[in-house]
Amino acid sequence: MRVVSGIQPTGNLHLGNYLGAIVQWVAMQDAHPGECLFFLADLHAITVRNDPAVLSSNVRELTAALIASGIDPDRSILFNQTRVPQHSELAWLLMCTARIGWLNRMTQFKEKSGKDREGASIGLFGYPVLQAADVLLYQATHVPVGEDQKQHLELARDIATKFNLDTGTETFTLPEPMIGTIAPRVMSLRDGSSKMSKSDPSDMSRINLMDDDDLIAQKFRKARTDAEPLPGEAAGLADRPEAANLVGIYAAMSGISRDQVCAEFAGKGFGAFKPALADLAVAKLSPIRSRFAELMQDVPAIDRILEDGAARARALAAPTLATAQQALGLHG
Ligand code: ATP
Ligand code: MG
Repeated sequence: MRVVSGIQPTGNLHLGNYLGAIVQWVAMQDAHPGECLFFLADLHAITVRNDPAVLSSNVRELTAALIASGIDPDRSILFNQTRVPQHSELAWLLMCTARIGWLNRMTQFKEKSGKDREGASIGLFGYPVLQAADVLLYQATHVPVGEDQKQHLELARDIATKFNLDTGTETFTLPEPMIGTIAPRVMSLRDGSSKMSKSDPSDMSRINLMDDDDLIAQKFRKARTDAEPLPGEAAGLADRPEAANLVGIYAAMSGISRDQVCAEFAGKGFGAFKPALADLAVAKLSPIRSRFAELMQDVPAIDRILEDGAARARALAAPTLATAQQALGLHG
């Protein structure tokens, strides 16, 4: 078993990242210590415009936030992509395997490039190929991600299959996506049809793990909802995306089902539900925030963790890259 997953240092960790990905990462690490690699995807972050000063401090802050959330750098390998050059080297080899038609079908590129598709970077278009390299480099068997990454993971499997077939080798293991069941897709607090994202320009659209108690309460209070009371069971949320999202967040954070949440609040309005949701989030997130503040007191220690993680990752990455080069007839 080999578990690999990453997160972009494009902003603060939010509740979607936490419930959709990080909770699963921690569970995998605890069940399979020594077999997990988690990385800060700084090479992915530069596919869109980024302020260099902000990016470098984001890498440290996100590292501290992951540790505060339960990632233990002794039991998992924690590192940033740039320090393991094999990610970029393998990505190039895979660029020559992936087909333009396959990438044209990727919905994230369409969303992120928006109206100016011709003006998007080649990196944003090729993003899923680098992502394939990220996991294939370590012969990942399991990749815990949110639902939005499912399509990219399927592409990684297609790339691995074609590479193995074209070269008549067994160079790459096919990775299995692990889409969590707790909260695979947390939606924006401002719009029930788009997912909560770090890169959403509206800070009110997301709960950041580092938001203080008052801000968390304010964001939930202002979250978009409808005027109906909560239904007695989750089936009653079918055409109510914003209400369904808040109920889903409550369920994920309290470890009970959406039906149980509905039963508890049946007939009550959001005036009663939102403060209960805010209290739950505050109770869950404030210990993470305090631990984060402690860790940020010692930035050199965070840098050492990243350095050590990268050295361990490079040692695992080198043999796969060499095998892939040989399979293509390259003298590496
Ligand atoms: P960006 O907007 O810059 O793409 P992001 O919020 O989408 O940032 P990523 O770094 O791209 O975050 O993704 C990190 C992990 O979090 C991935 O596994 C992704 O599937 C998961 N994830 C991101 N947003 C959500 C969400 N709203 N609900 C559940 N999981 C999510
Ligand atoms: Mg994303």
